[in-house]
Amino acid sequence: MIDASGDGRSRADYALAYAARGWAVVPLYWVDERGECGCGLAHDGQTAHRRADGTEFVLSPNSRGKHPHSLFAPHGALSASKDAATLRRWFATEPRLNIGVATGEISGIVVVDIDPRDGGDTTWADFVDRNGGQMPDTIIAGTGGGGQHVVFQYVADQVIRSPGKGVQVKGNGGYIVAEPSRHHSGGTYVWLADADPLEGATPAPAPEWLVTPKSADTLVLRGAGVRAAGYLSPQRVVDLQAAMQHLDPDPYETWFQVGMALHSTDAPEAFELWDAWSQRSLKYNVNATRRKWASFGQREGLHVESIFAWAAQAGWTGESPRVAVPAESVRVARPVADVQSAGDMGLHELPGALGEVIRYTLATAAKPQPDFAVASALALGSVIAGRRYVAQPFGNFTSLYFVLVGKSGCGKEHGRTAIETILAEAEWPELLGQSGYASDSAVFSSLLLQPTHIAFIDELGALLGNAQSEGMHYARAAMTALVESWGNCHGIMRPKAYSTANLAPQIAEAMLKRVVYNPAITLLGMTTPATFYGSLTGSAIEGGFLPRLLCVQTDIGRQPMGEKFATPVPPSVVDWINASRNHASDRGNLAARGHGAGERPTTTNVPMDLASMRAIRAYEADVLQSMDALDDEGIAELEGRSVEKVLRLACILAVSVDPATPRITADLVDHAVRYVRHWTGRTVQAVREHMHGSRFAQWQADVLRSIAKGGEKGRTERELARANALYNGLDLRQRRTVLDALVAKGDIAFVESAGLSGRGRKRQAWVAVEAGDEE
Ligand SMILES: [Zn+2]
Repeated sequence: MIDASGDGRSRADYALAYAARGWAVVPLYWVDERGECGCGLAHDGQTAHRRADGTEFVLSPNSRGKHPHSLFAPHGALSASKDAATLRRWFATEPRLNIGVATGEISGIVVVDIDPRDGGDTTWADFVDRNGGQMPDTIIAGTGGGGQHVVFQYVADQVIRSPGKGVQVKGNGGYIVAEPSRHHSGGTYVWLADADPLEGATPAPAPEWLVTPKSADTLVLRGAGVRAAGYLSPQRVVDLQAAMQHLDPDPYETWFQVGMALHSTDAPEAFELWDAWSQRSLKYNVNATRRKWASFGQREGLHVESIFAWAAQAGWTGESPRVAVPAESVRVARPVADVQSAGDMGLHELPGALGEVIRYTLATAAKPQPDFAVASALALGSVIAGRRYVAQPFGNFTSLYFVLVGKSGCGKEHGRTAIETILAEAEWPELLGQSGYASDSAVFSSLLLQPTHIAFIDELGALLGNAQSEGMHYARAAMTALVESWGNCHGIMRPKAYSTANLAPQIAEAMLKRVVYNPAITLLGMTTPATFYGSLTGSAIEGGFLPRLLCVQTDIGRQPMGEKFATPVPPSVVDWINASRNHASDRGNLAARGHGAGERPTTTNVPMDLASMRAIRAYEADVLQSMDALDDEGIAELEGRSVEKVLRLACILAVSVDPATPRITADLVDHAVRYVRHWTGRTVQAVREHMHGSRFAQWQADVLRSIAKGGEKGRTERELARANALYNGLDLRQRRTVLDALVAKGDIAFVESAGLSGRGRKRQAWVAVEAGDEE
C-alpha cells in the first residue's frame, strides 16, 4: 500500500511514535482505493449487521475508515493501547490500519473537531472572533475531509463546550483519526507544519473562553467533552438507556428527536438503543423504525446530550447502573437463552458435557473427591479443546495446568483413571501423554509426537522442589519449557540448541529444524501437601511455574475404600469428544503418529459477546487491585496469570456447552472467574502460611517473637507497634494480614482480660500460644 504521506514511515512507525509521546492508539479500519471501508460491511446507514451475540448495528457512509477494528479494538477507544508490543502486533497483522488517537485522560488531550460539511468552520471562526480572535499556539491537524482537529491539554473535571453546529469536543471515551490515515474522500489526515506533535509540538491549555463554568446550561457537554463520533462507551450506553427510561416514545416528535440525537453519534450501538426504546410504543414497527433511521442525515444539530437534558426534565435524576453490571436490556435482539446457564452453578458443577464427566468421575470413584473431579473434568476439557478452539478476540487457547493437593490415600489418583478410561472409550488414546518430563528436550520431543496431549505427573511437588535445587539443571529446564509451552499456545515452540546435546548428531540436527505450532500441553499433577508446601519458595513464583498452576486442595483427608460401581462412560461424553475433535477439515490437529506438530492447526473461533467482555474487564480490574495488595508480600505474581486462566477456562466451558458453535457468554465467564478466584485465593493463603524465606514469612516470625516477649499478658496493638519497629512500619492492612496468618497457623491468639488499671476497661492483646521463645 502506498503511504500517502510519502516520507517512508510506515503506519506502525507512526503508531509507535504516538505511543512514545503518551498517546494511546486506536486501530481503525482503512479505506481502500475505491473509498470502501476495510471492514467489508455495507456503510449505507441502512443494512443491519449482526454481531456474534445476535445484536444488530448499522454503519453510516461517513464512518468509512473511521471505526475501530472489531478484532483488535473490540471496545473501541477503550481498547486503545500505548504498549509497543501490542501496536507492533496490530500493525504486523494488518499494516493497512488507519490510526486513531484516544482522547481524554488516557492521552492527556481534548480535541476540538471542526467539520466544514456541517458548517463547523464558520461556527468556529465566529466563536474565536467573538472571544478576541486569538487562538493559542497548539497542535493542529488537517482532517482528510477538509476539517481541523485542534488539540488541547486534558484537565480533569474541566468542561469544554461545543460552540455549535459542526464542532465537536472529544474527551474521555472518544478518539480522533490521525496522520497518516486516509479519509474516505481520498484525502489524508496531516499535522500542520509548526503544530506537528511528531516534530515536538505540545498541546496548549484550553483557552479560558473555551472552558465552561460548571453551572452552565444543558448545551454543555458533560465531562471534558464526552461526545465521540462512532463510539459510545459501555457506560455511556448504560447511561443513555437509563435516561431513556424516562422518555415516552409515543409522541412522534420525541421519538424522532431521540432517534436523531442517537444517530448523530454514529455509534454501532445507537440504532439498537433507539430500536429497543421504540418498542415500548404500541405504534412500533420494525421496518418503519429502520427506514426512519436511514433517513436521518448528517446535518442535525442534535446530539446525545439533548437526551440527557430531556430525561432530566422528565424527572431522571442522573442515576444509572455502573457498567460492571450491564443493563440486560441493552443487549436487544438476543435470542432466548438456548444455553444452559452456568450463572447459579456451584464450584462442584460444570455446564454441558463436562458436568456429565464430573458425575461419571464421582460415580466411579472409590474415594470420591468432588474438587478433584471438577479439576480433572476441566483437564479433560483442556486437552479435548486443545489446539483446536481459540477464544476471540483475545486469541487464547485452552491449555491449563492443574495440581491436585491431597494426602496420600485420599483418592487424588482417580481423576487420572477416569480421564484414561474416557479417552480410551472415545478412541482417542493418542491424547494421553507421558508421566512427567525429565528435561526440556523431553517436553519438546513429546510435543513433536503429540502436539496436543495431557501429561500426568505423580509427584509434581517433588519436581517443583527439584527444579529449585542446585545441580538439578534438567528438572529446571523441564519447568522452563513447561512455562514456555503454557504461554506459547498461540505461537511456535522451537528446540533449544543445548537440549539436543544428548541426542545422536543427525537426530539433533533434524530436531533443530523442527518446530511445534500451537503446542497444547495439559497437565494434571498430583502431590501431597507436605511435599508441595515444602517446595514453595520465592523462586517457584518468580520462575513462573506456580503462577500458571491451578492448585486444587482438598479438605477431605484419607478415606477408606468405598464401594466401586461398574459405570460405563456415558455415550453423551463420547459423542461430545468426537464432536469436538473430529472435523473433516482437520489439518494438524491429529495428535497421533508424529504428524501435525509442524503444521498450523485448523482452528475454530469461540467468540465472546459484549457482556462477557465486560465481565473480563471487570475481573481484570479486580486482579490488578489484588496484585497491588500482594506486592508488599512479594507474591503478586501468583495472580499474574489469573485473567488468562479465566479466558482459557471460559473457552473450555463454551466447548463443553456446544462444541459445534461455541460462544463465550457472561455466565460462563462468571463461572470461570468464581473458579479461578476461589483456588487462587486458597493458593495465596497456602503460600502465606508455608512459603519460607519470603518477606511476609519474615514479618510473621518477627511479630511472633515480639508477641511472645509479652509473655502471658501478651501485647496490645499499641504495645506491639511501640516494641516492634517493623510492625510499626506496616500499614493497617499489612498488620491485619500478618496477625491473621499467625492466628490461622495457631501461633497466636487474641485474648481479653480485666484491665490492670481496674477501671473496668478490658485489655485486648495478642498472646503467643506456645510461649517457648520467651526470654
Ligand atoms: Zn467499516
